[in-house]
Amino acid sequence: MSSAAKVSIVSLAAAATFSCGAPREKTLVALFALDGATFDVIDELRSEGKLPAFDRLIRSGTSGTMVSMPERRLMNANPRRGHWSPILWATVATGVVPQKHGILDFLLPVPGTSQVWMGSEDEPPRAELSLPELRGEAPFRLRLRLRSHTPNGMQAISLSLNGALLESVDVPVEWAELTIPIPPESVRPATNRLIFELSKQSRPSDGGVSKDDRLLAAEMSWLEVLDREDRAVVSFDPVYRRFDLGRGFYQPEADVVEAQSSHMRTLPVWKLLGDAGHPVGVVGFWNTWPAYPVNGFLVTSRMGLRGRRQGTKSALTWPLELASELEPLYPSVSDMKETFGDIHAFDCVPPLTERESALADVLRQDELYFRASKKLLPALESGLFTVYFESIDVASHLYLHWREGSPVAEGCRETVRDLVDQIYVRVDRWMGELIDMLPADSTVFVVSDHGMSPAGSQGLHSPHGIFIGAGEGIRKEAEYRGASLLDIAPTILDRLSEPVPLALDGKVLAPIFEPEWLRDNPPRYAEKNIEGDVGGGVSREGADDVLERLRALGYIQ
Ligand SMILES: [Zn+2]
Repeated sequence: MSSAAKVSIVSLAAAATFSCGAPREKTLVALFALDGATFDVIDELRSEGKLPAFDRLIRSGTSGTMVSMPERRLMNANPRRGHWSPILWATVATGVVPQKHGILDFLLPVPGTSQVWMGSEDEPPRAELSLPELRGEAPFRLRLRLRSHTPNGMQAISLSLNGALLESVDVPVEWAELTIPIPPESVRPATNRLIFELSKQSRPSDGGVSKDDRLLAAEMSWLEVLDREDRAVVSFDPVYRRFDLGRGFYQPEADVVEAQSSHMRTLPVWKLLGDAGHPVGVVGFWNTWPAYPVNGFLVTSRMGLRGRRQGTKSALTWPLELASELEPLYPSVSDMKETFGDIHAFDCVPPLTERESALADVLRQDELYFRASKKLLPALESGLFTVYFESIDVASHLYLHWREGSPVAEGCRETVRDLVDQIYVRVDRWMGELIDMLPADSTVFVVSDHGMSPAGSQGLHSPHGIFIGAGEGIRKEAEYRGASLLDIAPTILDRLSEPVPLALDGKVLAPIFEPEWLRDNPPRYAEKNIEGDVGGGVSREGADDVLERLRALGYIQ
């Protein structure tokens, strides 16, 4: 980077410190986000002396397995993977449950494009929807956007709530917004069953052009329940809330993109800290593209994109011009050979092309994130720095079963069994080099979003990740197994002497601190708004390339 650019980042951080109210404590927190890391491997390698950075942190701090998100639907959403990284890392970043932060999937709708058809074999056709508890002040009103399937023409649709008829409305073939009062006596605690009784349906295939032979009655694009103050107490997007669609609804459809920064409904911890005047630096974290203003630097998840990011030109970083400064850091083919030539993934003849390229892509991405971190880290003297590395997850998916004794593929040497170990050693080295650059009184957290276990011919996500914390006031050589992904953001805020918003679902990890330190520095909580948009809107730029990559990895169909 030219010295001018470096100065601009440093001065940006410094300027904000003075403009937005000075933080009480000047210390740096570094959060290493290691996708899929597990103590099953770490402890074994540590005992062999192969992970000096992990070892130093664990021995000088508090560590233990960490519970990933115990959300049934998220775990079952995809039987092949479960524990989806974009959801989990958004939970780490925000300290709130997925239903609040809004990242509920790998793919999310472009706002305003979700739609779902109703139709059924029942006569008359009906569709059922379960609405959550209406937490607000009665009387409520239902608002929804509906249209009748064109060949049906205008049709009458009766809506009833928990068995009580609300209203019968005539719905035209053009989209119409309807408002329907809800009598207070029809509302129930916990869940509310909304039933659409439709009067006409037809199959697109009846016209002889379409092959679609579903019975279609009407289509809905959104629904909300407003309370007496006009606040939306329920906002129902058919894609976000597809688990609540009951009988008579087909699969919702939408124009989808990968989870993006503008899908986040609550602020990540680096925004909360930046707003309080702390400098921040974020490298490679999920759901950060398109880049948005932060009080420091942000290298988005599209900058590395597993080694290839053709298709994306804009908003790769904040400040925006940082992207071109980082571009030369991209590892070249010869760099890759030199840096990763000893990696045993490449010990198969004929080569296992798909595995090798998936691994090479992610190593190239992580090497870029490492180099970017090395370049940018000196700009931060306090506040929060975080970097995300994905290699352990990808290597474990591809090679963990061989580490654990499954017969290796034909043509591969036995050395491929060491591949996962080699990747942990590499991540340890990246982490160690970056830790050496931190001011001496820094605090370091290392977390993973889930663990990994061997399963048949692959490694799969498992429900226990890792937590490691080391720094002033944190107990040394201690074990703590009570941390959850939700607790990381509140604990980082606390570490930087910021009161923790009560709206966060996680808690400050008080048990990791020395009693005396905790007595002198009790966690503070405060009423504070955490909702907000960070991005400038969902973008379709380069979306096809990203979707194709997710498909290739088996995350989506
Ligand atoms: Zn994974």
